[in-house]
Amino acid sequence: KRNVLIIGAGGVAQVVAHKAAQHNDRLGDLHIASRTVAKAEAIIASVHEKSAMKVPGVFAAHALDATDSAAVVALIEQTGCQIVINVGSPFVNMPVLDACIQAGVAYMDTAIHEDPAKICETPPWYGNYEWKRREACKAAGVTAILGVGFDPGVVNAYARVAEGMMDKIESIDIVDINAGSHGKWFSTNFDPEINFREFTGTVYSWQNGAWQTNKMFEVGKTWDMPVVGEQKAYLTGHDEVHSLSARYPQADVRFWMGFGDHYINVFTVLKNLGLLSEQPVKTAEGLEVVPLKVVKAVLPDPASLAPNYTGKTCIGDFVKGTKDGQPVEVLIYNVADHKDAYNEVGSQGISYTAGVPPVAAALLIADGVWDVGAMANVEDLDPAPFINLLNTIGLPTRIKDAAGDRLLEL
Ligand code: NDP
Repeated sequence: KRNVLIIGAGGVAQVVAHKAAQHNDRLGDLHIASRTVAKAEAIIASVHEKSAMKVPGVFAAHALDATDSAAVVALIEQTGCQIVINVGSPFVNMPVLDACIQAGVAYMDTAIHEDPAKICETPPWYGNYEWKRREACKAAGVTAILGVGFDPGVVNAYARVAEGMMDKIESIDIVDINAGSHGKWFSTNFDPEINFREFTGTVYSWQNGAWQTNKMFEVGKTWDMPVVGEQKAYLTGHDEVHSLSARYPQADVRFWMGFGDHYINVFTVLKNLGLLSEQPVKTAEGLEVVPLKVVKAVLPDPASLAPNYTGKTCIGDFVKGTKDGQPVEVLIYNVADHKDAYNEVGSQGISYTAGVPPVAAALLIADGVWDVGAMANVEDLDPAPFINLLNTIGLPTRIKDAAGDRLLEL
C-alpha cells in the first residue's frame, strides 16, 4: 500500500477520489489537497455519502498552494504518500513534479503544464516543461506518468495497441465526441477559462513529418462513430499529438474535437466581441474588468451540470497502417454514459473518463507493474494491464476492425 495524495479538488479530482476510495484496500491512506480546502472536504463528504470506501481507512483533506513546491514536499512527507495524482489546474504541474522528484515519490498528471501568463502553449508541448525533468526523474528513480487521463492518456495506450497490430502506422486520428446534453442554453464542460484557452490559439497537427497550423474550426470532418453515430469534429491542438508524433514521426497525428453549431456560434460571437480576452478593460464608470472573468462569472458552474447531464461520450483512435504489405484500419474506442457516471461518482461523463485512468495507473504503480522508475508518457508503457484494468473499473475499451466490433482484452 503506497498511500495516495490527490492534488486539486475540481471535477476530475471528484472522480479520482471516488475511484481511489473504491480501491483503498490496495492504495492505502488517501489524502486530497487543494487551494480551497472546503472543496476537498466536500469531495470526501460525497465519497462517504456513497459509502465508496472499500475498507475503513483514512481520507483526509488539506489546504495547499501547489505552486509552492516546498509546501508540496512537506505535505508528501507529513502524509507518507508515495503516489501523487495531480489533477489540479495545469498551472501547478511543474512545482508538483519537482516536489515529487525531491521527495522520491511517484507522480502523474492528466494535462501538460501551462504558463498562466501565456494565452496558449505552442509545440513541442511536453518538451517545453515536463520532458526537461526526464533526467532528474531517472536519477531519482521516480516514476512520472504524464498525461494519464482519457485524452491524453487512454488514447495514447490505444495508439500503442494499434502499433502492435501493424508493421507501420500511417495515421492516427483521435476523435473526441461528447454527444451528451446538459440542458443549459450554453455552458462549457470545464472551467471556461481553461476551456476557451484551448480554442483561442492556433491549431497544431502533425502531418507530412512536420507541425502544420490551422485556425480553430477551419478544418472539420464528419466521423461515423459507434453508438453516437455521425458527428462533426474539428481539428484541434492537443497534448498527445506531440508525444505520439515523437514516437511515430512518420505518421500523421491529428486530434478532432466534436462541436455543435450552437457552441461554435456562441464561441465565435464571444471571441469576436472581445469577451474571451484576458486583457482588462475599463468601463465608462471606471470599473476595470477582465472580459473572460466576467463571461466565466455569468456562465453555469460546470460542476452544476452533472445531475442533469444525459447522453454519451465516444472517444477513440482511428489508426491506419500496413501489415505484411496490406492496408489495415482499426478503431479503438470507449463509450461512457453521463448519467451512469453521475450515479456512481456524482460527476458528468467527461470528468469520469478523465478521472478513472489516473486511478488505474496508481493501482498499476502500487502493484509494481507500471512502477518504471522513470518519466513516461502512456504510449511508452505496456498497454495491456492498463486496458484490462480499465475494462473492470468502468471504462471498457472496444475495438472495431475487419473482424468486427468487440471488447478489447489483451
Ligand atoms: P477544475 O478547474 O475543476 O479543478 C482544478 C482544481 O485545481 C481546483 O480545485 C483548484 O482549486 C485547484 N487548484 C488550482 N490552483 C491551485 C493551486 N495553486 N494549489 C492547489 N490547488 C489548485 O479542473 P478539472 O478537474 O476539470 O481538471 C483538472 C485537470 O485535468 C486539468 O489539468 C485539466 O486540463 C485536466 N483534464 C484532463 C483530461 C484528460 O482526459 N486528459 C480531461 C479533462 C481535464 P480552487 O477550487 O481553489 O480553484
